[in-house]
Amino acid sequence: MDPWKLFYKEWKPKEQGRQEALLTLGNGYFATRGAAEEAAADDINYPGTYLAGGYNRLTSEIEGTLVENEDFVNWPNWLHLTFSIEGGPWFKVEEVQLHHYYKELDLQQGLLTRVLRFEDNDGNITSLTCKRLVSMHNQHLAAIQWILEPVNWSGEIKIRSGLDGNIVNQNVDEHTKLNNKHLELVSSHLVEPEGIYLKVKTNQSEIVMAQAARTCFYKGEQRLEAPSQLIKNGRFIAQEFTLSCTKAQSLVIEKTVSLYTSRDWAISEPGLEAHKALKRAGRFAELLAAHIKAWKQLWNRCNIEITESQEALPVLRLHIFHLLQTASFHTIDIDTGVTARGLHGEGYRGHIFWDELFIFPFFNMRIPELTRELIMYRYRRLEEARHIARKAGCRGACFPWQSGSDGQEETSSLLLNPMNNTWNPDHTYLQRHINAAIAYNVWQYYLSSNDLEFMYFYGARLFLEIALFWSSLASFSKEKGKYELKGVIGPDEYHTCYPGADKPGLHNNAYTNIMAAWVLKRASDVLQLFTEANRAELLSSLDLDEQELNRWQEISSTMYIPFQHGNIISQFEGYEDLKELDWDKYKKKYGEHLRLDFILDYKGDSVNNYKASKQADVLMLFYIFTNTELKELFEHMGYTFSEELVKNNIDYYRPRNAHGSTLSKLVESWILARIDRKKSWDYFLHALKSDVEDIQGGSTQEGIHLGAMAGTLDLIQRCYTGMEIKGDVIWLDPHLPEDLEHIKMRLFYKAYWFTLHINHHKMEVYFEGDMQEEIKIGFRGKIHSSKNNDTLTFNL
Ligand code: BGC
Repeated sequence: MDPWKLFYKEWKPKEQGRQEALLTLGNGYFATRGAAEEAAADDINYPGTYLAGGYNRLTSEIEGTLVENEDFVNWPNWLHLTFSIEGGPWFKVEEVQLHHYYKELDLQQGLLTRVLRFEDNDGNITSLTCKRLVSMHNQHLAAIQWILEPVNWSGEIKIRSGLDGNIVNQNVDEHTKLNNKHLELVSSHLVEPEGIYLKVKTNQSEIVMAQAARTCFYKGEQRLEAPSQLIKNGRFIAQEFTLSCTKAQSLVIEKTVSLYTSRDWAISEPGLEAHKALKRAGRFAELLAAHIKAWKQLWNRCNIEITESQEALPVLRLHIFHLLQTASFHTIDIDTGVTARGLHGEGYRGHIFWDELFIFPFFNMRIPELTRELIMYRYRRLEEARHIARKAGCRGACFPWQSGSDGQEETSSLLLNPMNNTWNPDHTYLQRHINAAIAYNVWQYYLSSNDLEFMYFYGARLFLEIALFWSSLASFSKEKGKYELKGVIGPDEYHTCYPGADKPGLHNNAYTNIMAAWVLKRASDVLQLFTEANRAELLSSLDLDEQELNRWQEISSTMYIPFQHGNIISQFEGYEDLKELDWDKYKKKYGEHLRLDFILDYKGDSVNNYKASKQADVLMLFYIFTNTELKELFEHMGYTFSEELVKNNIDYYRPRNAHGSTLSKLVESWILARIDRKKSWDYFLHALKSDVEDIQGGSTQEGIHLGAMAGTLDLIQRCYTGMEIKGDVIWLDPHLPEDLEHIKMRLFYKAYWFTLHINHHKMEVYFEGDMQEEIKIGFRGKIHSSKNNDTLTFNL
């Protein structure tokens, strides 16, 4: 295996969906699935183009109820390129006899290549090499180069190159039953001498997208003129060129596309900009050179090197690649959040969840300005979050579980169970823990960046308004002598209510309670960052007084944690009364990754009745906090904590986890790292397979799982290195699994780059030159300072 490549050597129609998602090319501004240029959406292929922040709302009627959803719009397919030989049918892979087939994604260069040799029904053998890029240099450009060689024929060829807006959203089966037509035609025409132009608009959000395409032909370096005919059909526009081909002589076809939208800054009008950009764009080779250079810079910042006896490295790189294609420098200033399924498909409607928690650590220490921007996506939606809090009878800000354009709650009110085709109410919006994740992310960003200005103007405000929400949601139980949080759902979204209850929500989800206590406790540290005058100004602008701040400390130190027998934290109050599930029976029938919510509902039962979780819930605590932090928190709340408690809870909850989310194995790999490194590595390898092997059996084709992808990188970055930033010290405590021989990566901390190099015997920390201040590295209880070009070496 080449550690920089993902490739497929066979044409497997059934795997196209997954491959298209994994071969997506993007630049953090827009992305296009790795579908074949000649393909249109059908049972095998699904070309899809998605714009960061490109949403549209539609209302559909489901069993008499009107349901509104905000979707990630599938924009016009700019890929459309096909040909016909001597009046024969338009080329389609499915309809020819393949002699050779090879598809490759070069991760270093961001280049997708497809090489084919095939014979059509008339015996014409043709070889075709297709290259494609979505520019990382100029986010508004993309290009295709085809080299077509008639192997045994000469004759006339027609080439059709188009922009296809006659499309709908149909990447997710369940959603095709709903209203899915988002685009309206604004205009389409020929632009002399460049090519064609298409402008569409979404029918609710009124986002305008203009695409312009130029198609040119060459023999060697000689440009060929080809007569063309314009074809227009609704939102489809194409040029049909006629050329003559000579046996064994290559014809080079280059299609260059520019794309602008009304969401862009510094433009006059998207159409004008698309024209301008196309006119200025060079040939494929020129665009490729600039694109490769941009990728080189990104890899220089973001690469991770490991040596191991498995073949994890290419997959790790693939994860870095897709992370950077979803969010890159081009994501800065476009007011978008980081979507759970990348810009790679329509899964989860392109919504933004708590997955940021798994994604930001990678950016924090490589492109912190990106984390800052992605947190700003939340900040700009504070008013909507305040509204959600007020609707829930609370103060402060409550961010939605699923977020899209304007930050309102986007969790659909109904969820389809595909097993019995029934629509059930979806109450997962009660996952209030997302607020703790946002506050936690703000704090983590601050720790690695020291960005005090951001904290004052934005971060602290977000943090404190979230703290206010928690304090107003908390109620005091006289009976328990503790504060409680009622009516919530934890990360395990299988449990949405008590058995038989008609009201959704659970009481005292341990993860939520402890995270809320952490936020309330940490709020005083956030305030301590500022001068007295600034602190006073901040508090007054948020209408917070001493009394409220004292209440936060009181709640955090008196928060209730539900326990069951033997030091086991109860996932929520009453969890201990649920039934045990016959795991063997279900695993035998439905496999390892169980969608128990659907399965049990289909059987007329409910997963709410069982001790069975979709993903890590209580165990998330051991993912987020170190034992030292947890001990401090538990004691602050009036509970005792021991390492045995961690072990007991891991042992108790692991067998009760259905791994219905790709985030699940990742979290387990992390928490096992300290007690069973071998198992941790096994789980790490499993988490690596989430998308490349589509372990959920069909979900990758609806988009990658960005949280799981980023989480595997963070396992290398923070878990196996034992990295933790406390105050102004980076503490390191490596524990490499046996199979992981070495880790090397460059990391960015407080505006300085350092390289971390770890194997089983030694750890080296090398700081790059010209540092204005000393950086502190903590190792086994001692703090070491680093100066310019210093290498600190530690024996392990
Ligand atoms: C998981 C959530 C996650 C979401 C988006 C769901 O299946 O349960 O925790 O945020 O997917 O990735």
